[in-house]
Amino acid sequence: MPQQDKFVATTREERYDARQIEQKWFDRWQSDPSLYAAEANSAKPKFYVLEMLPYPSGALHMGHVRNYAIGDALARYMWMNGYNVLHPMGWDSFGLPAENAAIKNNTPPKEWTLANIASMKKQMKRLGFAYDWSREVTTCLPEYYRWNQWFFLKMYEQGLAYRKKSKVNWCPQCCTVLANEQVVNGNCWRHEDTPVEQRELEQWFLRITKYADELLRDLEKLEGWPEKVRTMQRNWIGRSEGALVDFDLGGTVGPAGSTITVFTTRIDTIYGATSLQLAPEHPIVKDMTGRDADLRSKVDQLIAEQRKAKEVGDIGAIEKHGVFTGRYAKNPFTGETVPVWVANYILTDYGTGAIMSVPAHDERDYEFARKYGLEIRLVILPQSSDPEETMAEPQLPFTTMDGFLVNSGEFSGINCADAIHKMAAFAEAKGFGKATVTFRLKDWGVSRQRYWGTPIPMVFCEKDGIVPVAEKDLPVILPDRVNVTLTGGSPLLSVPEFLNTTCPKCGGPARRETDTMDTFVDSSWYFYRYADARNEKAPFDSKTIAYWFGDEGIDQYIGGVEHAILHLIYSRFWTKFMRDMGLVKNDEPVKRLFTQGMVIKDGAKMSKNRGNVVSPDEMVARYGADAARLYSLFAAPPDRDLDWQDTGIEGIQRFLGRVYRFFVRNAQPEDPEWLQPVPSELSADARAIQRKLHLTIKRVGDDFKGRWHFNTCISAIMELLNEVYGAEESKDRIPVSLIAEVQRNIVLLLAPMAPYLAHELWEMIGEEGNLLKAAWPKYDAALAALDEIEIPVQVNGKLRSRIIVPAGSAEDLIRERALADEKVKTAIAGKQIVKVIVVPSKLVNIVVR
Ligand SMILES: [Zn+2]
Ligand SMILES: [Zn+2]
Repeated sequence: MPQQDKFVATTREERYDARQIEQKWFDRWQSDPSLYAAEANSAKPKFYVLEMLPYPSGALHMGHVRNYAIGDALARYMWMNGYNVLHPMGWDSFGLPAENAAIKNNTPPKEWTLANIASMKKQMKRLGFAYDWSREVTTCLPEYYRWNQWFFLKMYEQGLAYRKKSKVNWCPQCCTVLANEQVVNGNCWRHEDTPVEQRELEQWFLRITKYADELLRDLEKLEGWPEKVRTMQRNWIGRSEGALVDFDLGGTVGPAGSTITVFTTRIDTIYGATSLQLAPEHPIVKDMTGRDADLRSKVDQLIAEQRKAKEVGDIGAIEKHGVFTGRYAKNPFTGETVPVWVANYILTDYGTGAIMSVPAHDERDYEFARKYGLEIRLVILPQSSDPEETMAEPQLPFTTMDGFLVNSGEFSGINCADAIHKMAAFAEAKGFGKATVTFRLKDWGVSRQRYWGTPIPMVFCEKDGIVPVAEKDLPVILPDRVNVTLTGGSPLLSVPEFLNTTCPKCGGPARRETDTMDTFVDSSWYFYRYADARNEKAPFDSKTIAYWFGDEGIDQYIGGVEHAILHLIYSRFWTKFMRDMGLVKNDEPVKRLFTQGMVIKDGAKMSKNRGNVVSPDEMVARYGADAARLYSLFAAPPDRDLDWQDTGIEGIQRFLGRVYRFFVRNAQPEDPEWLQPVPSELSADARAIQRKLHLTIKRVGDDFKGRWHFNTCISAIMELLNEVYGAEESKDRIPVSLIAEVQRNIVLLLAPMAPYLAHELWEMIGEEGNLLKAAWPKYDAALAALDEIEIPVQVNGKLRSRIIVPAGSAEDLIRERALADEKVKTAIAGKQIVKVIVVPSKLVNIVVR
């Protein structure tokens, strides 16, 4: 029988036809809707893996594909490891783009959104992502958003939802209010070039600040989160310890009273306070400017400067201006009076909106005092080990804590840290101050003057004021036919059948709240709903949550780092609120968080304007879903940005083709030897393959458990394939049972990352069980170890020693080891080596003279 040509197929087509293979498996998978369903009442350990749900913009982009390919690989890996896996998907489907599309295309937002969901879902299915669609959550449907309303009522009952008039961030492009978290460098998070304006409106707020301390403290528990995300949250919460001190104005100016309470983190410097600085919008400033038109106009100027600085984003860099009010206030520590100024660099929402100015010991105060000729008084001297040196005056401003107090009455001589505690305690005992903690975190403004969001379930009655909608009347349905415009008021104002209602309390005529909720409310708790998505009686059943969330929350959450603040802080708050309601037991929603890098092209973010957008549909059509997925895992470590290369995905497709062709030639499940155990005695070539196989199993498993450097796992599988390709030449020396084992394992290792091809090959090697739940291969340390052999070493034909070398060692290494052996060295000492004969794996003979 002639030697079989490697490149000619015998019974099967050797060409890897991704389209045909993927279509076959796609059809099979679609016919089994429960394929990826999590098991109810399972005795298996649970694993909840979740990718952040997308906004249904109409089409997936490569960033989505990468995010989902990572999560899907992990879900499949966990199934193969015997876990009961929950892997759901849904749609964050309220939000402004639907309204913009409605205006542009004259399509109702709901229609537009549901059509987009349908097409994106189709894309996800085609990409082979293993989602349990029976749990799909669509946040814009009443079956979901009724629970937003229910939670809102619960928060209102507990005083966690409240209404107040306040300065709010307003995006003139979105025509709506933004939360502080949605203002990025002074601009709108959706409109990077649009400065955010400040407006005064009555708004609904959620009291996230009630949990400020706990949100900060529990970051310590989140060891499975990237440190950068924890740092970002820590900074956002911005806890600072300090003291409040009352300065008396010596008489009322107006309704805001006669006391100015300052917040300071350095009460130890209070003897050096030579003025007070108020924020231009501090209530007492309003009183002071009441009858003083000149002062009013100067303050208005400061307000304008401050707004402008806020709009460009950096209040710290503002050119500092101020105006003296003509008033004085008494420093309760010294008893002296200091001038009261208004300054453009003091913000109303930091501390109390009033500070004491200590020019000698603060950069900004120093700059301000120099400009306006205010007194600069030294009250802290640097600490020094040399007592002579301590009297030396420091360069001003001297701002460190590494010093002690001077010119500070009874507190002189005390070091700064001690003085801070003593002086705050003193102020408290005397009744003019106290130690306190402030946070940068503010309450979450959730009112939006938009149509496409959850209606806030509140009504306004002339007689009863604000009245919550009764729970039994939920959901308050968002009306369908609404004329959406971006005019500034809520579009719901123009829908009389929505607007006009009756008061739940007195039955009289009332008006509904027409603002809708911030869409970040929707995503604050959606992942709980997945666990019990069809519950009509409650947002979810607590027992079911206890199973899936355990004590520590979602086992693995995967998404973009752009959600480090907004979504991830709101959802932590929501979890703590639900825990306090007794609905959940876990303190935190997410045990482990992974933030993947972006997908870029030609070094830049993909965008239509740049023309560098890669379409997932096109990639699937050209190379197949497996290649698109595998390339997005292979091209870069998942936490880094991935620079998309067309040649890269082509290379991956060629690799898949190579795998396929190897199986076409070597899958022989009908061979009687196919299922036999691999013999323990193997030729060196066969043993090398066996060893490589186990090393690969270890590498891939380690990476799933560890750092998720799938790029290196995939390289390892490629190397294994190269090794077995090389062995095809010497097939007679490789037992069929080993070739079978290699193939079985390659399928198992590829199954989480390239599921279509893996399923096809699984069938090709005669396996009938469900690959999705086939056991993950076991790594055998003994088989992965290098074998060692003993080789006798002769000198002039006489046995002198034995050396131990790795099996299959090259001649050079054996020669080197033999000559380095102590006994051999003694035997050849002082003689000339004529020749070294190495018979690999057998013998070394050194000929000397
Ligand atoms: Zn905007
Ligand atoms: Zn009423």
